[in-house]
Amino acid sequence: MNKKIESSRVAFDALTGGEKMSRRDALKLMGLTGGAAMMMGAPTSAEAGPSSDKKAKIVIVGGGAGGIMAAARLRRAASNAEITIIAPNDIHLYQPGQVFMAAGLYTLSDIQHKNADFIPEGVKWVKDEVTVFDPDNNKVTTAKNGDIGYDFLVVATGIAYDYERIEGMSADLVGKYGISSVYLNDTVAGTAKGGEATAQWFRDIRKAAEAASEENPIHVICTQPDTPIKCGGAPQKILYLSDDNLRGNGPDGGVDVSKNAKFSFCKKGTKLFGVPEYNKTLVEEVTPMYGNITDKWDHILRKIDPQNKVATFEHHYQTKGEYDEELEEYDMIDHTEMVEMKYDFIHVVPPMKPVDAVANSPLGWQKGSAKGWLECDQYTLQHRRYKNVFGIGDILGIPKGKTGGSARHHGPILTENLISVMEGKEPKAKFDGYTVCPLKTQYGEIMLAEFNYDGVAPSFPVLDPTKPRWIWWAFDLYMLKPMYWYLMMRGLM
Ligand SMILES: Cc1cc2nc3c(=O)[nH]c(=O)nc-3n(C[C@H](O)[C@H](O)[C@H](O)COP(=O)(O)OP(=O)(O)OC[C@H]3O[C@@H](n4cnc5c(N)ncnc54)[C@H](O)[C@@H]3O)c2cc1C
Repeated sequence: MNKKIESSRVAFDALTGGEKMSRRDALKLMGLTGGAAMMMGAPTSAEAGPSSDKKAKIVIVGGGAGGIMAAARLRRAASNAEITIIAPNDIHLYQPGQVFMAAGLYTLSDIQHKNADFIPEGVKWVKDEVTVFDPDNNKVTTAKNGDIGYDFLVVATGIAYDYERIEGMSADLVGKYGISSVYLNDTVAGTAKGGEATAQWFRDIRKAAEAASEENPIHVICTQPDTPIKCGGAPQKILYLSDDNLRGNGPDGGVDVSKNAKFSFCKKGTKLFGVPEYNKTLVEEVTPMYGNITDKWDHILRKIDPQNKVATFEHHYQTKGEYDEELEEYDMIDHTEMVEMKYDFIHVVPPMKPVDAVANSPLGWQKGSAKGWLECDQYTLQHRRYKNVFGIGDILGIPKGKTGGSARHHGPILTENLISVMEGKEPKAKFDGYTVCPLKTQYGEIMLAEFNYDGVAPSFPVLDPTKPRWIWWAFDLYMLKPMYWYLMMRGLM
């Protein structure tokens, strides 16, 4: 095992007494670290918030991170409410762990858990999917269990992948023809093909680089689409970790063969990260550290030819036109061209979209760039037109926060506001846009990029958040998963 991974494990073991952490250990460590506040923003416990003993029917749709956290908190806060969760999945996936699967440090069983263990006592579980949302009649239609009515609705359906929007691409191609995609999973079946296929992809790239030379290198492309995506840092996590694996820093070690590979990172825009402080580290420290990565700005993957290993990108750029004397500046002329790039390996991040049942209902934004995503107020998480409807997690059509860490922050806000509305009051609690991206810049180091609507928002400001650190790697690898199972899924943080 490489030195960085090994030393972070040794240091972490010294702190915790071992990586196999029980619920007690997780709680103990929370105490040691000054509580969860240190990790991912200040927690808000449901017990501290308002509660109601009113009778009401609350329906939660979706049993992933957001739906389960909402169920746990609402069960405690609304003692007399009849709460139903409509969720098709027997298995709950810890999706952030798919990146550690790709890195060869987790296996599928590490990220799976029985969903039944998380459904709180006193919450009715309807194992089904919602096909139609009918907010005008306060009901949803399910695939197998007919209509279910509600007084209050919580939408927690997450995000859907849209591989087919790339011509020639489909989820079936992942794991074939040098193509991988860490995101690929099935949240109903509880499988994560993307994690497994990308681990093999890392090994295949290494083998190919060992057989290549500096004069005749292999070419690896990593992409990021022009749609909103969950965990916006994951495309770069795969870029850096697959490259670092060539330097011999992965779990299997080996000599440095990184000179035998060229990487292109293709994305919309001209920044690696939307928050300038984190972007600076990635541009000035992380990318140059590798020396073999070229950023291809405004290159969006539109077509793929798997057999011939050619990817076609829509490339936008501008050139200078006439000088405008009045404005004292040049006119800028927009151009679009299609660019073909040959590759040996490609990591495809799928375009993402709101799940159809929401997008096709009156609940989605009806127009604009957020069309189809749940039309909620970005602060209260209350639907802007249907005041008895709230949202949590990736489905929200708000400017920030498509991460599990954000859903954790949505939980107490949504609970407090739903209780207020139950009590006939105005919703007052405000989501600040908290988003967290533990960006793996190399094996053994993470830049814990935390931000909100106002910019950088570190939970532990004493440590410069723009610096990649082993401590965040150790926490992410060993601590976040038990915290997720034992605390977040129980609405305790
Ligand atoms: C590769 C990868 C890496 C990630 N890394 C991180 C990270 O490092 N940090 C972080 O904070 N987050 C990370 N995330 C993101 C995180 O997993 C999501 O933001 C989080 O799971 C969102 O919770 P959710 O409840 O909105 O959606 P999900 O957890 O996806 O749950 C949605 C659920 O709704 C169900 N559903 C969908 N449609 C219907 C319907 N019509 N009826 C009933 N049920 C339905 C689905 O089956 C699913 O179980 C990562 C995700 C991936 C894939």
